[in-house]
Amino acid sequence: MSPRQAPTYEIVGQLERFDERDTVFARERLVSGSPEERAYHTMHPELVEIDRRLARFIEAVDQPEAAANPADAALYRATFGPIAGLALPDVVDGEVAPERVEADPAQMAARIKTLARRLGADDVRIGPLNSAWVYSHRGTPPFFEEYRPNPPHFSGVPPGYTGLKWGDPIEVPHKYAIVMAFGQDRDLLRTGGTPHSDFEIGRVYGLSALVAVQVAAYIRALGWPARAHHLRNYGVLLVPVAVDAGLGELGRCGYLLHPRLGANLRLACVTTDLPLALDPPMDLGVQDFCEKCLKCATNCPSGAIPKGDKVVVRGVRKWQIDPVKCLLYWGHLGSACTICQVVCPWSKPSTLPHRLVAQVAIHVPPLRRFLVWADDRVYGTRFRPLPPPPWPHI
Ligand code: SF4
Ligand code: SF4
Repeated sequence: MSPRQAPTYEIVGQLERFDERDTVFARERLVSGSPEERAYHTMHPELVEIDRRLARFIEAVDQPEAAANPADAALYRATFGPIAGLALPDVVDGEVAPERVEADPAQMAARIKTLARRLGADDVRIGPLNSAWVYSHRGTPPFFEEYRPNPPHFSGVPPGYTGLKWGDPIEVPHKYAIVMAFGQDRDLLRTGGTPHSDFEIGRVYGLSALVAVQVAAYIRALGWPARAHHLRNYGVLLVPVAVDAGLGELGRCGYLLHPRLGANLRLACVTTDLPLALDPPMDLGVQDFCEKCLKCATNCPSGAIPKGDKVVVRGVRKWQIDPVKCLLYWGHLGSACTICQVVCPWSKPSTLPHRLVAQVAIHVPPLRRFLVWADDRVYGTRFRPLPPPPWPHI
């Protein structure tokens, strides 16, 4: 096998695993006065005030009775709520069939990719799982501390499953990651932080969770361990895992930039020991392109996306968004903001002209500055929201 091309992120020190308890999505859910909240803020007293403000976003989406439009809040619950059922320990993971199916890794990789695409993924790539991208401790709900077998429906916590409660260490011992990208309806996202964009985000997260669970179940039925990772049950940081698998590159905006979907996507993955042929990392020229393009940063209403240089974060040099500023803005909106995903020049519909422009951006570096300029001329420098369609308002 030829040596793998290196991913385009720059490792400049010792890689450190990330604690999921430090994510804004874990901190916003800390219940004031709970043992978890007290433990966390004893470790991080400097975050008490900011975490109280973060909690406002979750209050906005978790209390439909307090919403300006209860029908919108109901829609949010209907799209995001059931994903938690796909997060159960014996749904993301589970019993492995006793008989192993052995196959050529290249053939098996092709079969897995075909399956994932048929189930609904827009792109699938396979890479090594770097243990540095495994979360160190569990921080976001749902937690499964009390999860018990209930045959024949639930088999309980499978052997080796980790991260049952807040603060539990997480281990993912697998060698490979099958990473899947799911595109979003760009027009719904262009409504810009509305119930319509939330609906689309929830729809795609739901699909991605289901496909990840189905692919993992297929692999276990072939006799190999496999665990799904999706919105409601991540064991790994999906963006660097996706970069290692060659699904795209990390952009200035903090999202993976995919050559066809741009930043307008959601990710899910399956980790496994099933022997699979690996894909090489991809160099699209995104690091250079983002140096010349600040469109996400200049359009970000919260100032969360840096306009300056990369910084070193846990051993990797990269552009680092400020997730607190971003989530506080979501709280202000009462919806997830989508602006950076849709203004990115890479997030265009997959028409022939757009695909040709993407190929020029990838293969003709001297023209990248011109392409940034042209994108501003054709699509404007500022985000302009689309009027929401009549559906799904009630
Ligand atoms: S989602 Fe919105 S607020 Fe958050 S980084 Fe992107 S543009 Fe900024
Ligand atoms: S908008 Fe421009 S700077 Fe931001 S991620 Fe996309 S290409 Fe990079």
